[in-house]
Amino acid sequence: MTTNLLDFDLNGLAVFCEQLGEKRYRAVQLFRWIHQKGASSFDDMSDLAKSLREKLKGVAHVMPLPVMSQHISSDGTIKWLFDVGAGDAVEAVFIPEEDRGTLCISSQAGCAVGCRFCSTGHQGFSRNLKTGEIIAQLWFAEHFLRKHLRRDERVISNVVMMGMGEPLQNYSQLVPALRAMLDDHGYGLSRRRVTVSTSGIVPKMDLLAEQCPVALAVSLHAPNDALRDNLVPLNKKYPLAELLGACIRYLAYAPRDFITFEYCMLDGVNDQPEQAHELVKLVRQYSNSGAWCKFNLIPFNPFPQSGLKQSSAHQILAFARILNDAGIVTTIRKTRGDDIDAACGQLAGDVIDRTRVDQRIARQRTVMLKPIATIVETVKET
Ligand code: SAH
Ligand code: SF4
Repeated sequence: MTTNLLDFDLNGLAVFCEQLGEKRYRAVQLFRWIHQKGASSFDDMSDLAKSLREKLKGVAHVMPLPVMSQHISSDGTIKWLFDVGAGDAVEAVFIPEEDRGTLCISSQAGCAVGCRFCSTGHQGFSRNLKTGEIIAQLWFAEHFLRKHLRRDERVISNVVMMGMGEPLQNYSQLVPALRAMLDDHGYGLSRRRVTVSTSGIVPKMDLLAEQCPVALAVSLHAPNDALRDNLVPLNKKYPLAELLGACIRYLAYAPRDFITFEYCMLDGVNDQPEQAHELVKLVRQYSNSGAWCKFNLIPFNPFPQSGLKQSSAHQILAFARILNDAGIVTTIRKTRGDDIDAACGQLAGDVIDRTRVDQRIARQRTVMLKPIATIVETVKET
């Protein structure tokens, strides 16, 4: 078994090179070939000594993820489905906009958190992706798009960890992938333009603040513990007071001066005017101005097993208005890629329920898709 070099951030690659008896600057060269130029063959890395290329061939490889399908929407959104083995697949989605290109990527096959409105949650957990599998989604998309669009410069300016899975439950594999995104020798993305979205793994939020502070989105979905316990079961472990406390602590390290709260609008469940007022009260407990956070209301994308319905446009607007009137900046997420089933909760694949394990085993190639949550109007730059 040789080593997949996509599994490393630059430091990790430097250690690997040192173990091969090579100088650190070789790692910089290698890292640039892989991430900036999209090379996967050592033979293409023309400024590396031939002896080093031969040495590398014996011990390492650059392993992309096999692409199972690609769909291009009329609005330019592109969805890729990647094979991660053993019948599991994950999605990444590219959302082009005038002033940016956003890639939404996955961190796990499935998810253990089990939110009621999320189809990944309903499917259950399969496994954590490795660093190389997380970064391979960006590696592929960036270099595919450069070729496709015949562009030499960067196409993807923003990355959001809002695909399948709970990124902070895969912390150790996530952080090197984030570092590769941020590294000037890698993708050189701004910390403000890399967003981790979490359902609220409090200790890992603190760790991220300290070790790799990037923009943070927190999936709130409810104004009180009773409702959040029901929608996001993790709330029983990390209730709102702890979660919001962690958000405030995060702000001291964050590249932005606000936290984005995502709030999935569920008809008759969490979308009532009094619940909007309750949210205002909740965030004001932490700062009177309300300026420390922004809300992004996501129209729920229904799927059959959820038993939930999307709030009406009228209800969503009324909810947004209450928050905005109270001085809390609130946006409504625009759905992109409708025609290719690329929006949150729109599943193109064959979705399985993890409790029906027998069925899963019986299937040769089950595709597990997640609501690609981030087909998204992502967090807007300020
Ligand atoms: N696990 C992380 C990141 C992935 S989910 C998290 O929960 O934050 C990204 C976003 O998609 C979350 O805000 C989630 O609430 C939202 N989402 C999940 N299922 C959805 C659905 N069916 N419709 C709309 N948004 C959904
Ligand atoms: Fe997991 Fe996020 Fe879906 Fe909840 S919303 S089940 S945390 S992917």
